[in-house]
Amino acid sequence: MYPDRVVSGMRPTGAMHLGHYHGALKNWIKLQSELPCLFFVADWHALTTHYDDPSIIETSTWDMVIDWLAAGVDPSQATIFIQSKVPEHAELHLLLSMATPLGWLERVPTYKDQQEKLADRDLATYGFLGYPLLQAADVLIYRASQVPVGEDQIPHIEMMREIARRFNHLYGKEKGFEEKAQEAIKKLGSKRARMYTELRTAYQEQGKADALEQAKAMLDETQNLSMIDRERLFGYLEGSRKIILVEPQAKLTEASRLPGLDGQKMSKSYGNTITLREDKESVTKKVRTMPTDPARVRRTDPGDPEKCPVWQLHQVYSDQDTKDWVVKGCKSAGIGCLECKQPIVDAVLKEQEPMQERAQKYLDDPSLVRAIVADGCEKARKLAQETMRDVRDAMGLGYD
Ligand code: SF4
Repeated sequence: MYPDRVVSGMRPTGAMHLGHYHGALKNWIKLQSELPCLFFVADWHALTTHYDDPSIIETSTWDMVIDWLAAGVDPSQATIFIQSKVPEHAELHLLLSMATPLGWLERVPTYKDQQEKLADRDLATYGFLGYPLLQAADVLIYRASQVPVGEDQIPHIEMMREIARRFNHLYGKEKGFEEKAQEAIKKLGSKRARMYTELRTAYQEQGKADALEQAKAMLDETQNLSMIDRERLFGYLEGSRKIILVEPQAKLTEASRLPGLDGQKMSKSYGNTITLREDKESVTKKVRTMPTDPARVRRTDPGDPEKCPVWQLHQVYSDQDTKDWVVKGCKSAGIGCLECKQPIVDAVLKEQEPMQERAQKYLDDPSLVRAIVADGCEKARKLAQETMRDVRDAMGLGYD
């Protein structure tokens, strides 16, 4: 019914590191060539946990966008924008809050987790409780069909789907809907109209999910329907409501986790990162001083790669021959640790080289980044406004 679209955002947390690149950005870069993508800086989300320290938001935002571009996010393929520059997100958040049961927000698993993890902050705030609803607004406002997430984010997507369903149920009613849907069926032509009616009956009376999918595919292929009739027929398949907000699907991203320099998760708070645009000397020094298997006190002591964080980086960066060389050399003390680390240094520097080059253009002329983001904000805002017109109408606020 609505075009396939991917939406994803990141909080502006400052310079991005290689953990972000392997965990999320590589996936964005792949997706941007497959589907229309909207990538946004979630600056309002940063305030839900750091409302008392907004000083870093602005610089972090620009640094992060440069990192995205450096990594290969392509503004000619994807729309890059800043959440707060599309105020319709806030409007939808407010309107959704009217009908969202409090319990839905309180039971989101990350709510209690985060409060415990960030115990040094007072997160007993209205904004923090509502952040999954703001996330829902971020996605639903673009009628996104897919949201790339890790396993831990699936409950958030489930909640977005429930919110969309509830919204359509409450506000998708239309006066004379049944008659209007019947009129729209006639516009399909006799053969398709019969097929639509049979498939709808098969789904509604016998619960045949494949009949629903077949009917949806048929509607997708039908050219001569207006947008409004199309919405009605999609809604009529499943009940007697128009579909105003689309239920997004979670697009599970392959877990491609790059460990930090100490073997723990790579994170700024653990001080174990390599940033995307870190200079050569610093990268070399950081890798060369990485801890190794404690059993290798002397060069002649054999070690075990399984007990060494360097080995985890080889898993990401090295080919099979290099990995075989590491295992053999480590266990027999045939190679030294500095020798073992060199292929990692080389691979990281090679990975960063095109990023440094791409970033330089934007560092030399920051107006280029501003222009990309301004353009992205405008495009995103147009899409958001289309949805908000329907949302306002449905909620009795379509005064114009
Ligand atoms: S040789 Fe390599 S894998 Fe073995 S302990 Fe040293 S750095 Fe780690």
